[in-house]
Amino acid sequence: MSSQLYLGADVGGTALKYVLTDSRGEIQRQGEVATDPQSTAETIERLGHAVAPWRSALQGVGLACAGIVDPQAGTLGRAPNLPGWEDSDLTGAIGAVFDGLPVAVANDVNGALYGEYRSGAGRGADSLVMLALGTGVGGGILQDGHLVIGADCGAGEIGHMVLDLEGPPCPCGNLGCLEAWAGARGVVRAARERAAGEAATDAFRRLVTEQAEALTPRHLSELAAQGDPTAVALYHEVGRRLGQAVGNLVNVLNPDRVIIGGGLAAAAGLFLEVCREQAVGQILARAARQVPIVLAELGPHAAAVGAAWLAREVERID
Ligand SMILES: [Zn+2]
Repeated sequence: MSSQLYLGADVGGTALKYVLTDSRGEIQRQGEVATDPQSTAETIERLGHAVAPWRSALQGVGLACAGIVDPQAGTLGRAPNLPGWEDSDLTGAIGAVFDGLPVAVANDVNGALYGEYRSGAGRGADSLVMLALGTGVGGGILQDGHLVIGADCGAGEIGHMVLDLEGPPCPCGNLGCLEAWAGARGVVRAARERAAGEAATDAFRRLVTEQAEALTPRHLSELAAQGDPTAVALYHEVGRRLGQAVGNLVNVLNPDRVIIGGGLAAAAGLFLEVCREQAVGQILARAARQVPIVLAELGPHAAAVGAAWLAREVERID
């Protein structure tokens, strides 16, 4: 075990996943503790106990968390999954347990993007855009090696880029956000809509009826992989909408690379080509049409690994 370790944590609604990385960002140890959704302090205490054996080697602590995180103030604002954590002082809570260590905090997708930038699919690039296709769609932007946070910590909400003013409803209250097509919830909604239509195949209709409330994108991608035309068309629509967003982002930011992550990325074979075609058709700068659209590499540890990197590079946070 290396004598210099960085602790990176990713707080979810039920569990806090952590990694201990060495100075090259390699994971030396990993684990998890239960999240107390009502108490930041209690959860950080549990983390402190879990890593106590390595306390003397720790050089910094980073924490990634879903919600509006202000990396400079070290605070968490709105946090839908962690009601008791809203408007809390994350840096203070971490400092109370890990006294004297440098602390970094970040939004979870920014954490994952930073992890990919330093150890994964974004290595060697300076400017990246990441789309995390989970239940919803998360986003992150990195420019010249710095995460783009925005004046009010509101930057990077790529999932809520409106693609059609008359599109399907999004939980955010708007219509036609990217998330309404390319998040798991949106895919399931779109599948039910297709199943009710005239053109749906019998197999598709049967799957949607049989699975009912248990229907997931996994069921649908398995059917698409068997060549079912309705399921294939459903994933082409995911690709087309994703491509619309990627095309818009490349026209605005011209990144070195676009990274697609999240659970839905496992089915990328069903939509990535369509995504690329749609994006390329929209991109104005000829050279930018070559932008690589790549899959995330770090999987479920990305945000914790990124948080550990941020702790190591505290002064780099914007
Ligand atoms: Zn939205």
